[in-house]
Amino acid sequence: MDITYDLESITELTVANTTGIGRGNAGGLALRNFCVAIDSTMYVKTSEIMRQNLEKQFSLPVKFLVISHYHGDHIFGMAAFKDICILSSEQTSKVMLNEETKSRYQVFIKDLAKEGPIGEAIEYVLPTLLFNGKLIIQDNDLYIEIFHTGGHTAGSSFINFPHENVVFAGDLIFENTFPYAGDPTCDPELLINALQKMRDINADFYIPGHGPTMKGASTLDRHITFYHDLRDIIRDAIKDNTAVDKISIPDTFGEPDAGRKSMTVNHWLNYYKNK
Ligand SMILES: [Zn+2]
Repeated sequence: MDITYDLESITELTVANTTGIGRGNAGGLALRNFCVAIDSTMYVKTSEIMRQNLEKQFSLPVKFLVISHYHGDHIFGMAAFKDICILSSEQTSKVMLNEETKSRYQVFIKDLAKEGPIGEAIEYVLPTLLFNGKLIIQDNDLYIEIFHTGGHTAGSSFINFPHENVVFAGDLIFENTFPYAGDPTCDPELLINALQKMRDINADFYIPGHGPTMKGASTLDRHITFYHDLRDIIRDAIKDNTAVDKISIPDTFGEPDAGRKSMTVNHWLNYYKNK
């Protein structure tokens, strides 16, 4: 089977693949003298093709890979970029260095190898340049800002490209699908704050971590409302001592799969019990 990984033009200087073919969305952008890739899909193969297509599209080399967070469907293709600078928040790197994550992901990588050619050659590559708070990559008159917010995971970050009015949100946004908000390091309050921060930037386009590109900041409103409503439901459930299986969640994104729902609900219950 031939593997392809086409990049869709979002604006003149930004591209993305939101088809789900590499599992987590990935994309990139061009500054004046080089490109920046954003996330590396779950497979080395799709990541390699993404890099080639980025360089072809803009006739510029890729100089940086930015990792939005540590989940496998965004980082397992990193081997395709290990000769260049790989950036993440310090918190993402800390979670990746954690023994529990490493052993869990070793099993994950072994399972992917069984999927055939697409799952081959995955390596657990670590980021090489770490930041806290905010990092700017500048090239002549163009720049991008990377904000570490936490939320979906402790290290979660998003990328803003002001010149193009585009935000790459990573998994701080799941569009048209029930979000995963049950990672052990997920912080619901930081997640809501991150969504509001992206909303306030008022970009023209938001590239979510999963699902199609979103046009305009108002498309974030139903996500913010969803998490506010979920928080209210969880707080009420704690007050009323409701059994986990009796907790219903907002139907904004349809019926979640049972595993994703219970991980999210249990994580949020623990979080707000201890608040
Ligand atoms: Zn994720």
